[in-house]
Amino acid sequence: MAAYVLTSHGMKVLLLEAGKKLDINKELKSMQWPYDHPNRGDIPPDTHSLTPAEYRFRDRPYAKGTPYHHVYSYIESWGKGDYSKNIVVDEKDHPYTGTPYAWARARCLGGKTNIWGRLGLRLSDYDFKAKSRDGYGEDWPISYADIAPYYDKVDLCLGISGHKENLDYLPDSIFQRSIRLSKSEVMLRESLAKMGRVLTPYRAGVATDGLKHNKYRSRCFGRGACERHTGGCDIHAAFDSPTGLIYPALETGNLTIRTNATAREVTVDASSGKARGVSFVDTETGKTYEARGKSIVLAASTLESARLMLLSKSSLYPNGIGNSSGHVGHNLCDHIMGPHILGLVKDLVGKPRTLDDGRPGGFYVPRFRNLTDRDPNFIRAYGFEGFGGNTMEPEHAMSLPGFGRSYKKAVRDHAGAFISLSGFGEVLARYENHIDIDPDVKDKWGIPVIRFHYKYGDNEKKMSLDMVNSAREMFDEAGFEVVEARHEILTEGWSIHELGTARMGTDPKTSVLNPFQQSHDVKNLLVVDGSSHVSASCHNPTWTIMALAWRSCDHLADQLRKGEV
Ligand SMILES: Cc1cc2nc3c(=O)[nH]c(=O)nc-3n(C[C@H](O)[C@H](O)[C@H](O)COP(=O)(O)OP(=O)(O)OC[C@H]3O[C@@H](n4cnc5c(N)ncnc54)[C@H](O)[C@@H]3O)c2cc1C
Ligand code: SF4
Repeated sequence: MAAYVLTSHGMKVLLLEAGKKLDINKELKSMQWPYDHPNRGDIPPDTHSLTPAEYRFRDRPYAKGTPYHHVYSYIESWGKGDYSKNIVVDEKDHPYTGTPYAWARARCLGGKTNIWGRLGLRLSDYDFKAKSRDGYGEDWPISYADIAPYYDKVDLCLGISGHKENLDYLPDSIFQRSIRLSKSEVMLRESLAKMGRVLTPYRAGVATDGLKHNKYRSRCFGRGACERHTGGCDIHAAFDSPTGLIYPALETGNLTIRTNATAREVTVDASSGKARGVSFVDTETGKTYEARGKSIVLAASTLESARLMLLSKSSLYPNGIGNSSGHVGHNLCDHIMGPHILGLVKDLVGKPRTLDDGRPGGFYVPRFRNLTDRDPNFIRAYGFEGFGGNTMEPEHAMSLPGFGRSYKKAVRDHAGAFISLSGFGEVLARYENHIDIDPDVKDKWGIPVIRFHYKYGDNEKKMSLDMVNSAREMFDEAGFEVVEARHEILTEGWSIHELGTARMGTDPKTSVLNPFQQSHDVKNLLVVDGSSHVSASCHNPTWTIMALAWRSCDHLADQLRKGEV
């Protein structure tokens, strides 16, 4: 987003990308049927993806000592990992240490947006001003009114589908055509309305009506393999950074891309104290170079940007660049995941099949706790992502007991009758939850790696119990049979929504960045990813990351024109 906005202002931009430039059209195969793939989409036998349990019992670095040629993160273990194994990192080359953490990374042009889940939600003043409501943590230095025009720009530029609900705690976007709800989802929506709760179609960062201004992207055709999120969308109806932002930025003639270029340090001009450039390693030759610029914008993702700042030590900045507050790497937060409920809608057993997974998602149930009431057990909130209806592979129905002809009939009869709710809850930002640099372990290119010090607390545990209880209550009310309910929280990091390691604020003693994501200490250094978030909210972060980056880069362009940076 930074490259897109700055080049549109006529600025010359050099984009350093640690990963390769994949031919993403060859890589993503969202039209391929399982039987057309030699392994039905699974990764080759000499490779391994970490399982949920391994994140708990294996020593860190996770891939050390494993017999496999390549080791990938857990997202490949969802199945169909062969479609994204070239997008995610090989854990063998990219180790990390410390407390258990499931860290999914994508090193290629466009990063994780090539395979993201696409739920695009706005934050509201319930999030930006959460401290004013419950006294915990810090308020953001901006309010919804500051960012709303930029959410609008992101909606129009990239496309988002959804249905207007007029909720002040989940503001509407400028939506394209909404995704159709399946039969069971409509039943749940109607039942929840009677409870004063909302079920809204998945707000997907997908151009359901197309985008006339962007020739790289297509309208969504609602095809069958979309549920294979980690396989991406090969016609780019779903937003990904390359087709949504980077290729259009290249067309301005102002963008230069250098792939296989891993930034390892922000260099400093000793006389002015400003950032001078970036020292980077060519990952193919191992040679180190320095690129210089008037302003340096970090957007390497929440954890990598913090790593880079901590690695950038100099006599002027002995704790790392922009770290006079000591907050870089701290206040790490994300979303708890794991609490989950599965229901059976008996009225739908034996009904004809419908096409429900040719959709970029199912539905979202927004938060309902701590809005007007105050929950006695926990602060903040959670929402649910859910899905009801038929899927290409009826995984729930396949676990029915039996065999032979009667089993096949049971699977067919039950295939479209299941519905699920999976919770996503806000993890409180705490100073003690942090990363630092491991003094002993380095990655394949000799760059010291991240060490995690991160644990969930009491608030998260109490929230997870409530998630399952409230989900059960909703299914009971709708008349769905609960066939599975679990409240265990998955390993830290699982949500892939890491945030907060260089937070914004107005006080340079307690924050790293100003409200325009500019370093308090080094004016020409910006950090425009999730590290700037002050709290996690329970809403998925990517739409906010992009709206904030657009706002900050508009501001930077203005400052550069006036010679103020
Ligand atoms: C399977 C999956 C599902 C998801 N679902 C959702 C969802 O539904 N909704 C939502 O809001 N979010 C979702 N996310 C999260 C979303 O993808 C991220 O919030 C988003 O991609 C963050 O963007 P980013 O640019 O900060 O980081 P990234 O996408 O990680 O991009 C960072 C880029 O920086 C590069 N880089 C890293 N280090 C360096 C370095 N030292 N030098 C040079 N380059 C470097 C990387 O190679 C990469 O290209 C999901 C993620 C995954 C993987
Ligand atoms: S359903 Fe739409 S978003 Fe999903 S893969 Fe197909 S075209 Fe892409």
